[in-house]
Amino acid sequence: MAQIIDGKRISAEIRAEIKEQTEAFKAKRGYAPGLAVIIVGEDPASQVYVRNKKRACDEVGFYSESYELPAETTQDELLSLIDRLNADENIHGIICQLPLPRHLDETAVLLKIKPEKDVDAFHPYNVGKIMIGDYNFLPCTPAGVMALIKRSGIEVAGKNCVVIGRSNIVGKPMAMLLLHANGTVTICHSKTRDIKKICAEADILVAGVGRANFVTADMVKEGAVIIDVGINRLDSGKLCGDVDFCEVEPKASYITPVPGGVGPMTITMLMQNTLTAAKIHGK
Ligand code: NAP
Repeated sequence: MAQIIDGKRISAEIRAEIKEQTEAFKAKRGYAPGLAVIIVGEDPASQVYVRNKKRACDEVGFYSESYELPAETTQDELLSLIDRLNADENIHGIICQLPLPRHLDETAVLLKIKPEKDVDAFHPYNVGKIMIGDYNFLPCTPAGVMALIKRSGIEVAGKNCVVIGRSNIVGKPMAMLLLHANGTVTICHSKTRDIKKICAEADILVAGVGRANFVTADMVKEGAVIIDVGINRLDSGKLCGDVDFCEVEPKASYITPVPGGVGPMTITMLMQNTLTAAKIHGK
């Protein structure tokens, strides 16, 4: 039987630490770390994420601003808002909720956010810093995975790590962080041959595919650590991960559930990045 990695508990623990550090920060500097969250359009899932981010800011004692812009917002309007927030001393972190409506250029928007306020770590400057291992911010989801691994006492050094997925926000930075932790890393994607065989050799398997129950028991080595980043909604409305939990759990040594594993960590890492940004660049 695997040990369940409780993302809710670990996330609450880290938020309590951030709250304490924020109180000390405010006492010393006389202002709070500030986060601005921009959302364009009415995507219901994005609206939930934005509300949760605002709630997390309140919980840890940050100042926050939310900008809920109509779907027909122009590129110029969005870029001018980012310009204004880039110059605002009360704001230390800016995030623009993705995906954006189709007529907006996502790359131009991400490039417009000042790297020192880019608390999602999506700007190419920050991506490059992560590559060379000299960074202030890490992308929130992979950073959350690393925190779960570390706080569960799992050693990465020397381990065979397999990441399924190569997106810019999950797979690629995840592989880089495992490499920085001295894992031996393989990245799998939709063109990978013999994926089952490669996964079955993993000591640590991270799934960021976006397909329900993609990882089955025959893809898992006895005693492996299984990290499930996937969030998939079934026709029944139920949330499930990329890992067939019932099949895989008996073979694993550690496993993250969905929900309640990686998910709760992502916003917590955003809070961590915002506090770091305020500490480094706040007056
Ligand atoms: P994405 O951009 O769609 O990337 C999915 C990756 O999976 C791609 O690299 C794709 O390969 C690979 N893939 C798809 N089908 C495959 C197959 N049959 N065999 C092997 N690889 C396959 O998705 P994402 O943004 O990285 O997100 C991945 C999952 O994580 C989603 O379920 C998402 O909802 C979840 N997520 C969770 C959090 C969180 O807070 N927990 C945050 C972000 C994302 P190719 O590159 O070859 O197409």
